Amino acid sequence: MGTRAYKHKTSHSEPGPGDGGRTGSWRVERPVINTELCIPAKRKAEACFICWLYCPDVVVTRTIPPTIDLTYCKGCGICAEECPTKAITMVDEAEFQDDED
Ligand code: SF4
Ligand code: SF4
Repeated sequence: MGTRAYKHKTSHSEPGPGDGGRTGSWRVERPVINTELCIPAKRKAEACFICWLYCPDVVVTRTIPPTIDLTYCKGCGICAEECPTKAITMVDEAEFQDDED
């Protein structure tokens, strides 16, 4: 069997509907990234991405700044818990109701 070079040493898949469908509808709290505290956003360089690494739904992008696909984010809060600079805040979904009317 041949070998294949991966840029990042991690197993990672793409978000998509599984048995639970579009799991973003399960969310009661939404993760919001503060780019003033987020390391790659501040440095404008690839760094940290712990949120990307830990997200069980693989909905965080490894981009500057990271973004979150709310179609599938279940709002588990792991990203906020693991972020070393506390750049991610979990905000009650009710706060965004006006945005989606
Ligand atoms: S874990 Fe926090 S500081 Fe690191 S990339 Fe994610 S939001 Fe930014
Ligand atoms: S709240 Fe959970 S599912 Fe949503 S981005 Fe953070 S770690 Fe991923």
